[in-house]
Amino acid sequence: MATASGAEALNFIDGRWVAGTSAQVAAVFNPATSEVLASVPLAEAADVTKAIEAAAAAFPAWRRTPPQARIQYLFKYRRLLEEHAEEIARTITQEHGKTLAEARAELQRGIENVEVACGIPTLMQGYNLEDVASGIDELMIRQPLGVTAAITPFNFPAMIPLWFLPYAIACGNTFILKPSERVPLTARILIDLLNQTGIPSGVISLVVGAKPAVDVLLRHPAVRAISFVGSTPVARYIYAEGSAHGKRVQCQGGAKNFVVVMPDADLDMTARIVADSAFGCSGQRCLAISAAITIGDAGTKFQSAVMDIATRMKVGNGLEDAVQMGPVISPASRQRIEGLIDQGLKAGGKALLDGRVAKAKADSSFVNPTILTDIGPDKALTTTEIFGPVLTLDSADDLDQAIEILSRSAYGNAASIFTTSGNAARKFRYEAPAGNIGVNIGVAAPMAYFPFSGWKDSFLGVLHGQGRDAVDFYTDKKVVIERWPKEWSRKF
Ligand code: NAD
Repeated sequence: MATASGAEALNFIDGRWVAGTSAQVAAVFNPATSEVLASVPLAEAADVTKAIEAAAAAFPAWRRTPPQARIQYLFKYRRLLEEHAEEIARTITQEHGKTLAEARAELQRGIENVEVACGIPTLMQGYNLEDVASGIDELMIRQPLGVTAAITPFNFPAMIPLWFLPYAIACGNTFILKPSERVPLTARILIDLLNQTGIPSGVISLVVGAKPAVDVLLRHPAVRAISFVGSTPVARYIYAEGSAHGKRVQCQGGAKNFVVVMPDADLDMTARIVADSAFGCSGQRCLAISAAITIGDAGTKFQSAVMDIATRMKVGNGLEDAVQMGPVISPASRQRIEGLIDQGLKAGGKALLDGRVAKAKADSSFVNPTILTDIGPDKALTTTEIFGPVLTLDSADDLDQAIEILSRSAYGNAASIFTTSGNAARKFRYEAPAGNIGVNIGVAAPMAYFPFSGWKDSFLGVLHGQGRDAVDFYTDKKVVIERWPKEWSRKF
């Protein structure tokens, strides 16, 4: 969408596409080809303020729209998302780099959140009790908050906005999306399709910007709730600043996810699933396994099976059919990942598979699958989020020691175990300090009707995204205590 002046109109405010007023422009590019896809003017304070004012103005009528009527827009939205699935998936692949299959899968996960939010007339119900004292009844009802906003990362351009948007509006709030400025083209389609349902102006807005845009959302008094997904340092900032300005805030942060491989596991199957988790989406999933701890004699066979898969992975442009792994998001990200690999090797680690591309061009975003050993549980790389296709292998004497190693991580997004022992699985589920646990699962991603949990530095807040937590997050509970004495009633 280009404006009359030729600038990209990526902000959707008060039911219209408008170009940002800022002179600051971000280039959106395809990390597989380095081609520039769009030049995006970044929203500044005035743009975001307009979006908040439009959202605040739309709130009273939207909140009065019956939940059953509100979800009719979501039913239409779901159909439009499915009809445009291929266009959305291609856009994700182009601006993010992941394969088309991965892009289709993330969209499907996003659509599932729209489906769950269509249950709002049931999910949003409160509860009540007659005669809490003689002739006195008490009820709890949920009411929407007002203007809500989500600030989302680059790695799931469609799915992560949809962790929040459907629930927020189904509950009767208005909603502003501030996507990653690195992947705004998918967000533009998401908002355009929702607009096509005929949803009233101001109920949804899109502002594409960076920190200055976020700061307005964090400080404006009309914004009641902020959802954030991204790195932990930014999560901390958003949580502190948003809370200081009286907002309800939920922040999903970074991750470092471990898998424990028991000697009784089916090691070929385990290696396939772990390799898919570690290298899928080029390791840029917050639920990606990035550190494996093998127990006893599992090590040798697991290592050779995972090496075999990683060595044969076809890396390239995600739009091509046979490609199994795309680039990382940017040349800067490639350099950061290469630097961390280097740091691990300098600290005594060994590269079983070194994915750094010798003499990579300055504008290349490609890192191949990398497997490192002998990093040691105490070394920085074992606890640092790499967010690239790098798997470290470590070993432990037993499950207790493995849980002790992963417990030292500051993060607690996910942890998995592969085993055929119910007892080991139960112990792991019981003791591992992470919010999403996989038992013989590589990417422990909760379905839309479960909370997307996350512990320690991977989550700041109380209520998580998705499912019933989302309904609690996007509503205020109101308790009404009523007495209607007979003697006060008019006689008919
Ligand atoms: P990021 O923290 O750089 O950016 C996330 C969002 O915050 C973007 O919209 C960005 O514009 C904005 N932002 C960046 N710096 C800011 C600042 N200083 N002030 C205010 N806003 C700022 O994250 P990213 O690189 O886009 O995404 C990768 C990170 O996200 C990884 O750490 C990954 O683990 C994490 N992540 C976590 C989850 C989860 O569920 N826990 C899911 C996906 C991604």
